[in-house]
Amino acid sequence: MDKVYLDHAATTPVFPEVAEAMYDILLHHHGNPSSPHFCGRDAKGYLDEARGQVAALIGAAPEEIFFTSGGTEADNIAVFGSAAAAGDKKHVITSAVEHHAVLDSCQELARLGYDLTVLPVDAYGLVHVEDLQASLRPDTFLVSIMHANNEVGSVNPIKELAAAAHQAGALFHVDAVQSVGKIPVNVTDLDVDMLTYSSHKINGPKGVGALYKRQDVPICRRVFGGGQERQLRSGTENMPGIVGFGKAAALTAQRWQAEMAECRRLRDLLVELTLTRIPHSRLNGHPTQRLPHNANLSFDYIEGEALLLYLDLAGVACSAGSACSSGSSTPSHVLTAMGLEDRWLHSALRFSLGYGVTEEQIRYTAQLLQEKVEQLRMASPFYQGK
Ligand SMILES: *Cc1c(COP(=O)(O)O)cnc(C)c1O
Repeated sequence: MDKVYLDHAATTPVFPEVAEAMYDILLHHHGNPSSPHFCGRDAKGYLDEARGQVAALIGAAPEEIFFTSGGTEADNIAVFGSAAAAGDKKHVITSAVEHHAVLDSCQELARLGYDLTVLPVDAYGLVHVEDLQASLRPDTFLVSIMHANNEVGSVNPIKELAAAAHQAGALFHVDAVQSVGKIPVNVTDLDVDMLTYSSHKINGPKGVGALYKRQDVPICRRVFGGGQERQLRSGTENMPGIVGFGKAAALTAQRWQAEMAECRRLRDLLVELTLTRIPHSRLNGHPTQRLPHNANLSFDYIEGEALLLYLDLAGVACSAGSACSSGSSTPSHVLTAMGLEDRWLHSALRFSLGYGVTEEQIRYTAQLLQEKVEQLRMASPFYQGK
């Protein structure tokens, strides 16, 4: 069996068409889109085209898209930019299971003297509208809640949450890095003020992302300089990255429905094989209200890191917790906020599928999981053939 990559929530391989579009820009279109001469105008054409492609993927207008260095920077601009434009309003609300790009930004605001409310989640990792409604105040300027969680894949009711925020006069930002290209994401349907997405989670290059901002939403710039991206985010544009993001967005728009239907089928197979063949295993997150390509599984009597290592040696890549916070062995803040018992918390592995994953690979992974879990349990003093 060739290598099996089941870590698409951490990053995705670049579509070959995307790499070709980037190569073309690097070799044949070196202009600076701010230059008025023919070289600049040539580059500006590619920049405009990419902006249109990236906007179309979420049903936005090109003028509402601001390119950034990735999802992390877009999240930072949404949080700090709206705080700087909020005047006397000093209260921000987020949830306990956000990506650190949002959570740590909000915690930094708290350190600077803002009031921060971190909403709890239920056992599935979902935020409840009633909890948000009870926390909103007249001085709440921003609510930032993610669409789909990067670890357990649970999908929040963003439309309802955004409506509650608006009723209280607050802006609503959604981190949609994990949901774009996996489930329907349309800014008009969701009725959000700001939305973050990232190229490398939809088979584009790393180091480029975008913030959608509805035109009448006031936020202050965070990067000062030459005034690119309509004054919001200065710096000469990352042209190969942006063009790659545009191409990835256009291809994702064509492909995602068929591909995600296949991912769902294979993900369901992996979950079924695991739960039926491995005793004391469980699926974390919501059983149905979840991303189609995510399976977060726990195995009692197992140390997740040890199982991860065994799978790695056998050529299967997955993730313990999220790649973004790995390297540390502190348990996932997401699973902790969901109230998971220690035995499930420390044995959780995330499998995230994507383009190119086959049924053969999934059956191989399921077989391997069964073998390795058995092997590790045999060596455990706590497991006595239960
Ligand atoms: C990956 C990810 C980010 C960060 O995006 P980058 O482009 O890697 O900076 C932010 N939020 C979520 C939910 C993510 O999964």
